[in-house]
Amino acid sequence: MEKNLLEVEDLEVRFYTYEGIVEAIDGANLILKEGETLGLVGETGCGKSVTSLSVLVLVPQPGKIEGGKVILKTSKGSIDLLKQDEAHLRNMRGDDISMIFQDPRSALNPVYSVEDQVAEVFMHHRLKELVSKVLEGIEKDIQKSGSFKHFILGYEKKLYEKMLKNPKSLSLRTFSKIPIANRYRRRLKEEARKDVVRILGAMKIPEPERVADMYPHELSGGMAQRVVIAMALGCNPELLIADEPTTNLDVTIQAQILELIREMKGKFGSSVLYITHDLGVIAELCDRVAVMYAGNVCELGDVVEIFKKPLHPYTQALLESIPQPGKPFTSIEGEVPSLINPPIGCRFNPRCSKASDQCTKQKPRFVEVSKDHFVMCHLYRAVHE
Ligand code: SF4
Repeated sequence: MEKNLLEVEDLEVRFYTYEGIVEAIDGANLILKEGETLGLVGETGCGKSVTSLSVLVLVPQPGKIEGGKVILKTSKGSIDLLKQDEAHLRNMRGDDISMIFQDPRSALNPVYSVEDQVAEVFMHHRLKELVSKVLEGIEKDIQKSGSFKHFILGYEKKLYEKMLKNPKSLSLRTFSKIPIANRYRRRLKEEARKDVVRILGAMKIPEPERVADMYPHELSGGMAQRVVIAMALGCNPELLIADEPTTNLDVTIQAQILELIREMKGKFGSSVLYITHDLGVIAELCDRVAVMYAGNVCELGDVVEIFKKPLHPYTQALLESIPQPGKPFTSIEGEVPSLINPPIGCRFNPRCSKASDQCTKQKPRFVEVSKDHFVMCHLYRAVHE
């Protein structure tokens, strides 16, 4: 049986603005299984990005996560991300969970080269691995060298051994600030560069050696997104969150980036949470889909099952509104509700053709109506009830 990698339970996020309290996420539930690609789909402003930022515990001010759990079950154990301190979370971001943002240009620093930015990720998350490789290199050089060089190499070796034990030691940090002494770090930089070039090559970037020396303004949109994907996948995260990574790209580059994400998922073995408003991308890329409406996940299940037989009235209306040749164009009646004063009961009730009295008073529960198929609607009962 597939294991759950991520479980979001009754997540509540509010934004305290001058206009009022925005109830952005209202008890959302989500399950992502190991090795799968889960699509998170919904209209703009429904809470897709806030949900993904909550998984990273990076909801910006004036937002606050005020309830629920975000359980990550990795090979290291199961933890509630909302209960971790900032230092632990900083290590987990990149190591266990990575994110590809919508706009690659804002994710890259314009004053640093590609090599500097990708290498920084490696230095932070894979320092021990890099130092071990450096020590292997020094050992080989010692065997080949004469007695004077032997002495210098021995000293370098001691410094790297110290770094392996405690990379943050005060003496190493002080030593690194002395320009001549600092030269010992050149081996580490060379090792990191090798890995940068290797990962850029894996992202199918032509001439990775040359691209490593380039700055973000010299890259095309597609190339910049590949660099961001390289940074995200460089540390083999268990969970990759992709927040509309193809939105600003033209269609041919979009197709290439989708293909790259699919290929890299197979190669690096990460599970993917793919956020989009494009149902075509969901059908193309995802194994399962979670449909969001006004801060709730209203339906979650297998892509083929939901596309063939959607259960929630919002999912049904959403799929019916996909333009099809020979069919009149239909749209969902009404407007997306304000999240400052959202409708009471089911948030979809003002637009739902099947709404009853109960829907305007009581919030529906998120229930499993058949194996791994969840719906949040009064029309359905849980399979085990
Ligand atoms: Fe429609 Fe009621 Fe179901 Fe909400 S709970 S989707 S209003 S039927």
